[in-house]
Amino acid sequence: MDRKVYYINMHNNINKLVAYNINIEGDYLCPLCLNTYKEQDVRNVLTEEDVPQHSLGGKRIVLTCKNCNSTCGSEIDIHLLNAIKLREQHLFLPDEKRKIHIEKNGKILNADLQVDEDRTIKLLVNTKKNNPKVWADFHDNILLPNELVNIEDLPLKRDERRISAALIKNAYLLLFARTGYSLLYDTYYDDLRKQILDPDVFHLPDRLWTIQNISIPDGIYLTQDNKYRGFFVIYTLELKFKYRVCVLIPTPMIPYLAATKELEKIDAHTRIKILSLPDLDYLNNDEAIKRLREWCYSWKMKL
Ligand SMILES: [Zn+2]
Repeated sequence: MDRKVYYINMHNNINKLVAYNINIEGDYLCPLCLNTYKEQDVRNVLTEEDVPQHSLGGKRIVLTCKNCNSTCGSEIDIHLLNAIKLREQHLFLPDEKRKIHIEKNGKILNADLQVDEDRTIKLLVNTKKNNPKVWADFHDNILLPNELVNIEDLPLKRDERRISAALIKNAYLLLFARTGYSLLYDTYYDDLRKQILDPDVFHLPDRLWTIQNISIPDGIYLTQDNKYRGFFVIYTLELKFKYRVCVLIPTPMIPYLAATKELEKIDAHTRIKILSLPDLDYLNNDEAIKRLREWCYSWKMKL
């Protein structure tokens, strides 16, 4: 990403908001913790963040502070990656290798399970990674033809609340990349930011998102129902397969709980009306910022 262009756009966006009595201190704010930074920090201190995370096919589109970037990586992003890894492991896809435990009579052997191109499954045992006595026992007495053993995947850290926080973070940053502080600086979104940075506590109700077969392209859409007025941010996670995610980021007019309750009523067969977010410059263009803010703080349907 071009940090210079990015900085100019975001800093200009901060200046544009003075017209709405929004006076933001600092040249740039980390979109997640809202800490302020000077122009030179944007060049040297801030980090380019992949949205979604790099391992799931994301691109660098925003600058966040080092602390938020690394904390999100180790506290929430890894949980999302593990959830998808586990899902794909259960399919025994070709051309894949992973670490497993083989267990028999309370004894455990470390090994790799390899699925070849033709789906042949092989067990690879590195004798150096096992206690020689245990390996000898498995070799001589346990891993015999027609013997049944338990194979267990190594446990991967995976927590539902943290997965949820990662899904919401991606949507929030995708919306931020398009609209900057024009809307998201509103204190209404503090709970959303807290949920991302402090995922174990319930700052938001569960399920502002869904993963199902979504047939419309990735992008940002305006909901056309005032009961859950806001933005549907649709994006793709990609490991071996693609997973489409849809997150609702409500406008400040709607309590989060009310939006969640309405979302629960939507099932796979419900037809919902949405509009694409018009392709305008919501960072620099006065008219676009005005229209965005009017849409967010009113009940009219079109932006
Ligand atoms: Zn930060």
